[in-house]
Amino acid sequence: MAAHHTVYKEPAPIMDRENPLESMMSRFNIAADILGLDDATYNVLKVADKQVIVNIPVTMDDGHIRVFEGYRVIHNTILGPSKGGIRYDKNVHLDEVKALAAWMTWKCAVVDIPYGGAKGGIICDPTTMSAGEIERLTRGYTLALKDIFGPDRDIPAPDMGTGPREMAWLMDEFSKTNGMTSPAVVTGKPLVMGGSLGRTEATGRGVMVSTLAALKKLGLKPSEVSAAVQGFGNVGSWAAILLHAEGVKIKGVSDISGAYWNDNGINIDDAIAYKNAHNGRLEGFTGATPIDPDDLLTSDVDVLVPAAVEDVITEHNAHLIKAKLIVEGANGPTSASADSIINEKGIMVVPDILANSGGVTVSYFEWVQNKQGFKWSLDMVTDRADRIMNDAFEKVYQTSQKYNVPMRIAAYVVAIDKVAQTYKFRGGF
Ligand code: GLU
Repeated sequence: MAAHHTVYKEPAPIMDRENPLESMMSRFNIAADILGLDDATYNVLKVADKQVIVNIPVTMDDGHIRVFEGYRVIHNTILGPSKGGIRYDKNVHLDEVKALAAWMTWKCAVVDIPYGGAKGGIICDPTTMSAGEIERLTRGYTLALKDIFGPDRDIPAPDMGTGPREMAWLMDEFSKTNGMTSPAVVTGKPLVMGGSLGRTEATGRGVMVSTLAALKKLGLKPSEVSAAVQGFGNVGSWAAILLHAEGVKIKGVSDISGAYWNDNGINIDDAIAYKNAHNGRLEGFTGATPIDPDDLLTSDVDVLVPAAVEDVITEHNAHLIKAKLIVEGANGPTSASADSIINEKGIMVVPDILANSGGVTVSYFEWVQNKQGFKWSLDMVTDRADRIMNDAFEKVYQTSQKYNVPMRIAAYVVAIDKVAQTYKFRGGF
């Protein structure tokens, strides 16, 4: 490794858990070395272009005013306006948002869509807040970032803890502030106000499509394999529905309430119906038996789909994984410390920046439709998204063969190469 690649020191680690920024950087460093990335481009890409910290006063329902800390990190815009979701969670941390923003740059480059990368977050617990409080928080955040956001500047989207409802408030606040209705400032909007058909299921669909592509490479048929899905939010539940529809036996699922197992396969339609009827939780679901959530990741399945949070597969549990294939629905579910263990075990990994890129791909379609003022059919959306996903998978697979590296490193190589080549053509730091 070249000397300049080893000096990465900032920032201070997140003390009580692994630091996703360090995980992102360690893969970036490996890929940069493979490509022989020049020092200037390396030094530009290892840091975010811009980091904004805002404090948002919100009148709570009981009348007192609470101040929330929020972030928007723009990692890079060389390929186009920056794109990335906004996360509402009590564990949001600036380092995490920085890693997630960089992953958006790599993700957009892997699927070859004309966006840079960004991410936002607010430290809050939306599960304990009323709709009115969340609306005021969302409007305050939008107003604080009105000069950052814009249809050709920086385009937010949903992430953990946010959805179409928050995107509608953001679009409304931005539009009023600028004196014109601007649907293209945000994606993941409700369908009636410029959302795209197929956006809700897009990330889960991409997980399904990339799982099928990987199974093919492994010589396995979907109807002959079993899977466990960690996380039953938007990404996990749609991945489970669509994999189940392809004949994959989903033996285990989990959510915030616990993990559930059925050796004969879980009826996913029943699980979704149960979740919808019980406050979005699987707690009490009788179609499966509760198991220890830690055991789900190491359970006896062919395919493991982590679709929840970062750093759930680590050096502490990687050696226990039995799956032949890991498809990362979440961003950063595998810490860098687990990579070598997984590689030694010969497990194929479809990495986050490839596996979950179906979401931002259909976000891109939503933005294009908003700019065209023209709505696409669902078939058009899914056909195009599936093609982009399969092409990206094949490109990453070929790159992994060419350099004899795992799919994860290959995905970074593809992404960094595209960004670096663009810097070369555009020229001039
Ligand atoms: N939050 C999603 C992600 O991590 C979607 C981002 C977007 O659609 O802009 O990929």
